[in-house]
Amino acid sequence: MKRIAASLTAAVLTVAAALPMMTGSTRMEYAVTGSTLNSLGSYLLGDGSLEYGKGDINRDGSIDCFDLVLGRKYVTEYSDKVPEGMWVGTGDNGVRLFWFSGGAGYIFGASAAQVTDFTASVTDSRFTLTTGGTSAMADIVWNSADSFSLHWDDYGLEAFSPAGAQLMPSAELTGEYITSGDTGQRSWKFSGYTGSCDGRGFFWLPEEGGIKLCWCGSTEYGDIEHIALARTDRHHFTLTYEDGRRESFTRREITTVDGITYVNGILIANKTYALPSTYNPGGLTSETLAAFNEMKAAAYAEKGLSLTVCSGFRSYSYQATLYNNYVARDGKAKADTYSARPGHSEHQTGLAADINYAGDWFNTTPEAAWLAANCWKYGFIIRYPQGKQDITGYKYESWHVRYLGRELAKMVYDSGLTLEEYLGIDSSYKY
Ligand SMILES: [Zn+2]
Repeated sequence: MKRIAASLTAAVLTVAAALPMMTGSTRMEYAVTGSTLNSLGSYLLGDGSLEYGKGDINRDGSIDCFDLVLGRKYVTEYSDKVPEGMWVGTGDNGVRLFWFSGGAGYIFGASAAQVTDFTASVTDSRFTLTTGGTSAMADIVWNSADSFSLHWDDYGLEAFSPAGAQLMPSAELTGEYITSGDTGQRSWKFSGYTGSCDGRGFFWLPEEGGIKLCWCGSTEYGDIEHIALARTDRHHFTLTYEDGRRESFTRREITTVDGITYVNGILIANKTYALPSTYNPGGLTSETLAAFNEMKAAAYAEKGLSLTVCSGFRSYSYQATLYNNYVARDGKAKADTYSARPGHSEHQTGLAADINYAGDWFNTTPEAAWLAANCWKYGFIIRYPQGKQDITGYKYESWHVRYLGRELAKMVYDSGLTLEEYLGIDSSYKY
């Protein structure tokens, strides 16, 4: 967090940047407008004078036609440009966040948790911001395509830099999260630097040593909380509040496409989420098969172990037959502990496979030990680990692997969590 705060300060202090296509290091100190150019033109023709300090646009110590050329470029590119997107403004008003979108937007105040909407326009480098029928005006001075300042007519200078650069960690947080920890379970929606939690809006801003979480229109937790953010991986992070409370965040975006459930884009079939009877990839997906073959070769090369798929893809109707036979033999309650109801089997995804032997006998084999230690390297996880039956819905299956792709499999393996825990979902029949 220190780095972010430092980069914010640095960005504000060193606004010096060259305009695109302009030579030398040029920092605009004042708005270059059409009338600036007219005055400069007249001055160069020996007709008229310049306001003190204006004219040396390229700041090379002399006022000449190069200043006119540079000024003209500036006017063409910037004199009517309205900012777009999220910007951090720093100046006499403290730190404020501005969101510009098509000539309208919002100001998020940092010292008070308030959001003010406005309309904005720029004409000949004059910036007009209107809110609640009142207008404030400023000269807008662009120092580069991603840096500008507002010289407010009534209260000084405000320097702007893109919020994305300073707030990178929060920008990565876009999406839906559920939390656990000292604050209990809450659901959060992040959209870059703003979002909502259980229906209350918030935004956040960087500060020295951490982040400020500013609640909009709520005093339940106080308007502003100073927090430290620690990332675990792409899907997880932790906030530690100033009073010591900790909240763990798990990204969980559940979407359904044609009856198929995806959590964070990952196809899920478990006791909670069923596949439609029509879902049929026709076998193990080619990616799963290729990864398995690579894993098989590695197990043989490393330890002389032989891995085979004893059960890969299973269709909905095949699973229905299987399950109904188990129910007839052992009863529904028992069958549910080891066999999936049709639609709920991961084998229907084409992404899961039973290796060598689907039974407890396999647990103590060197093949099982090798799989547990190495399958993540090839994009697989042991889907139903020991002692997690309450979470996965299945007893320990050392032989059942699920393909997730290398990156995700490594993250899940490193987390030590089941896939359900990693994604913040449950696995239990609702019928
Ligand atoms: Zn299986």
